[in-house]
Amino acid sequence: MENRKKAKLSLGVQIFIALVLGIVVGILLTGQSAFAAKYIKPFGTIFLNLVKWVVTPLVFFSIMAGVISMRDIHKVGSVGVKTLVYYLCTTAIAIIIGLSIANLFRGAFPVLETTNLEYTAKDPVSFMDTLVGIFPSNFVKPFADANMLQIIVASLFIGFALLLVGERKQMDFNYVETLNSIFLKVMEMIIKLSPIGVFCLICPVVAENGPKILGSLAIVLLVAYLAYIIHMAVVYSLAVKTGAGMSPLTFFKGMAPAMIMAFSSASSVGTLPLNIECSEKLGADKDISAFVLPLGATINMDGTAIYQGVCAVFIASCFGIQLTLPQMLTIVLTATLASIGTAGVPGAGMIMLAMVLQSVGLPVEGIALVAGIDRIFDMGRTTVNITGDASCAVIVSALERRKAAKRG
Ligand code: ASP
Repeated sequence: MENRKKAKLSLGVQIFIALVLGIVVGILLTGQSAFAAKYIKPFGTIFLNLVKWVVTPLVFFSIMAGVISMRDIHKVGSVGVKTLVYYLCTTAIAIIIGLSIANLFRGAFPVLETTNLEYTAKDPVSFMDTLVGIFPSNFVKPFADANMLQIIVASLFIGFALLLVGERKQMDFNYVETLNSIFLKVMEMIIKLSPIGVFCLICPVVAENGPKILGSLAIVLLVAYLAYIIHMAVVYSLAVKTGAGMSPLTFFKGMAPAMIMAFSSASSVGTLPLNIECSEKLGADKDISAFVLPLGATINMDGTAIYQGVCAVFIASCFGIQLTLPQMLTIVLTATLASIGTAGVPGAGMIMLAMVLQSVGLPVEGIALVAGIDRIFDMGRTTVNITGDASCAVIVSALERRKAAKRG
């Protein structure tokens, strides 16, 4: 019994092994990507479907339970403001890092043929439409569409209503806690399948994209990944060190399972359950991470912002256009807004790239240059996205704890 216990690998190690195996098998299957897409990918899809299935009730009940356990409207407001400020500032820094690094390497970008390009941008969504879209008009639709922002709004309303009704009628809220625990348990069961999910998601991607990356786009990918890594190593390390007094090494080590899942699935929403688990292990409070992480999975996309900056410079350079400083500032603004509007699902960031390009008059067809390997950009940007969310949960928890201690 003892021995068997010892031999059991931790989930983090299992996920890491699954990643390495997935990449190796993917390389072996290069040239037979149809096989990987037909027989391996479906199991990854099953895993992601299960995650998507549990994530809506999980977010709904955990935010409600969070509001109830905070029991104080001021605390919810204080957490909300800190979270939004942190998300906006880190996203703006991310895009500045992306633009700077891309400009530094501009000379190394290949000159690609741009005459035969075709890409039709989706109709841009205005800021006002986005704002209106946050508020649900139907009780069940947000759940059917897995619309995270609408679910957050609904659960905040109901959470506050429960508090107010409860105060008057002296009710206790055990049933919300019970429902929350049930969905947390379901999530735990699904998370145990993560290694299989990681293997089946990464393997077909490597099998399909391996040869393409060896082509002329390798340099743009490298630049994007360099910016992703610099942003995480500098901004998040500094933030968790100063904001939460946590060693960056501890932070990244604790985050590794969620980061690998984000890398393999390219979906912030799909990584949410594992991200909640990792953040709480790192000391984020339950009620705070229940609010900060689902919100971050939808509106905080530092990696996506970096990607948009790098691609804007790359596409401009392919068309022989040099971006001016005012244009770059416009990109900082639009990419910050675009990343807020990006859904936490695979490929969403590329669609929003059209809005960034349009804002500075760059040809939208340029997206066709990078579309073929979007998944590889996406894996990195999603990893940055969810790490940023977790850093916020850890920091806001530490700040709130400090505030409570001061109050005595
Ligand atoms: N896939 C990203 C995410 O889920 C969004 C994007 O495409 O940039 O975080």
